[in-house]
Order: sequence, then C-alpha cells, then structure tokens
Amino acid sequence: MFKKFRKEILEYDCVGIFSHIRPDGDCIGAQVALALWLEKNGVRVLAFNDDGVPTYLDFIGSYFPVEESDEELAAQCDAFVVLDGNAPERFGSYVTCQDHFPRPGYMIDHHPDPVDAFHLSICDSSASSTCELIHRLYHEHDPDQIDGDVARALYTGILTDTGSLQYDSVSPETVEAVADLLRRGGFRPNEVVEQVFSNRNPRQLKLLSLALDTIQLFESNQIAIMYVTPEMLEKTHTTNGDTEGFVNYPLSISGVKAAILMKDLGSSGVKMSLRSKSDLDVNLWARKLNGGGHKKASGAWHPGPLQDTIHDVVRIGAIQLKQLNESK
Ligand code: 5GP
Ligand code: MN
Repeated sequence: MFKKFRKEILEYDCVGIFSHIRPDGDCIGAQVALALWLEKNGVRVLAFNDDGVPTYLDFIGSYFPVEESDEELAAQCDAFVVLDGNAPERFGSYVTCQDHFPRPGYMIDHHPDPVDAFHLSICDSSASSTCELIHRLYHEHDPDQIDGDVARALYTGILTDTGSLQYDSVSPETVEAVADLLRRGGFRPNEVVEQVFSNRNPRQLKLLSLALDTIQLFESNQIAIMYVTPEMLEKTHTTNGDTEGFVNYPLSISGVKAAILMKDLGSSGVKMSLRSKSDLDVNLWARKLNGGGHKKASGAWHPGPLQDTIHDVVRIGAIQLKQLNESK
C-alpha cells in the first residue's frame, strides 16, 4: 500500500506535514507519528496546523512540535503530506502554500470519495482511522521503529476516531493494531485515556449541562438536536473547543438514529457535528450542508441563524429517513 509513497517521500530533504483544520486525535496522532517516522529515516520534517494542537492532545504535541504554518517555513519543504482529510480545503493554508510555491502533495486518509487533487493519494475508507494506516506504514517498513511516543500517538488516534473501539469502523485489524501498539509502546491504556478523556474542567461540565437542556427531538424521536450558543460559552467561560464528545449524549437516547450538535458561531454561521447510530448516512446529509466526513460521523456548516439551521437540517434529515425507510 505504501511502496510508492515510501520510495518517493524518503528521497526528499524536507517534508511538510499538514493535519486538518479544527484538529482531532486522529489527525494529530497520525501527523506526529508520521513526522517521527520520516525523521527516523533521515528526512527533515516540519509539521503544520493552522488551529494549533488542542490542550487535551498537548502530550502528543510534546513528542514532535506542530506549529502554525508560516509561508517562510513551508517554502523550505520539498513536498507536502496531508493527513486525515481528502480535499485540499480541509487543510487551510495548505491551499495557499500550493498556490504560492507548488510542491508534490501526498494524501493519506480514510474518508470516502477522495478528491483527485494530489500527486499521490493513499486512501482506505475501510480503515478505522488515519492512525491505523500510519501503523500499517510502520509495519510495511520496519515495525521496530515503533517506540513509546509513536505508539501513544497512534493509539490515541485510533481510540478517538473509534469512540474507544466502539464504532462499526472497528475491524479485527484495528484491534490487532491496538494490541501491537500496547505491546511495543510499553504503556498502560489508562495513561492515554486519562489524558484524553478524563481531563475535563468543571466549566466544561457546566457547559454540558446547559447544552443537555437544549436537546430537541424530531421525526418521531429519530433525530436529536443539541446546540451551544455564544451566550452559553460566555456564561461558563468556555470555547467551542470544549464541546468535544458532547454529541454522544443526544446520540445515546433510545430510538434516536442521528444526533446533531450545533455550534452557533454568531455572524460566522453554525458549525455542526453529525453522528449516526443507524443505517442513516450522515455523510450524504453533511454534503448537502457544505460538509462531509464518514457515514457515521460527519461535520457540516450552515449560514444560520440557528433556528433556520435547525429547520433546514431536520428537513434534509427527514428526506433521508423517508428514503431509508422506503428502501427497506
Ligand atoms: P466532527 O464532528 O468531530 O468535527 O467531525 C466528524 C467527522 O467529519 C470527521 O471525520 C471530520 O474529519 C469530518 N468533518 C468535520 N467537519 C468537516 C467539514 O467541514 N468538511 C468535511 N468534508 N468533513 C468534515
Ligand atoms: Mn480520522
């Protein structure tokens, strides 16, 4: 799978790696693990993210620095790799870098329907996560290069992208990869879990309690919507980044087939996280709302205001539900 990639990428002196905007555990874990792999194999690396590393992933950022992209730094790179997204726009300033000083672009990702905009694309939508693919890269090359830092980074990405190995994207290969990372990394699962999932501050829980109060059910309780407003953030001294994982609460309601968390950004519109625990394909839904992602987890955007967003989102969801029920 990585034969051509390995041959070409190890020829460059300096490679720039981009993870996607509003980064998550999978893209940061994959970015740091790939950066370490390139370094171990004699390539200089610069790792970029326009939005920076979220606090709950700071420990991964300590294994390899991820910095805001800077054209002067990026211009030093002979090639770029983008991770965990399949269209240039997902990588923010990657697009302007490619405009100003074009370089071969390599893409490694696990989302469906990749865009044909890269020199080389390595996509496997059956993989649980981009970190699972980077684990495969290490195994194709030299699995003994997986050290404790690499293992923790990849383990984190696999866990965060699979709801701690609960989603239907989890295959026997995913679980084998996790076992291999635990064996080689020499760490205990709770070390990572405590950093990533048990690191909330009381303000976040206050925000969660306000958000839970907004849950509304539509279409005979099959669609659940929850939202967060700027006023709620102000009241609890939190930011939209503090809503990580909130969407799982409305999704956990019995009978709900899809849940949407709406983050009201005021004049910038409404950013959404869509999740499905049914045959309902939220990627199709999100694609009608300026977004995309996976069948069971996607992101989207609507110009707002919030009440219009709820109306439009439920309308699109209702059509999807009807089509789904008719096809049965
Ligand atoms: P989240 O809801 O956690 O932000 O994102 C869930 C999934 O949807 C992730 O796989 C993420 O990469 C994808 N995603 C989130 N926002 C967008 C977006 O604006 N466009 C596309 N194409 N995918 C997105
Ligand atoms: Mn991912």
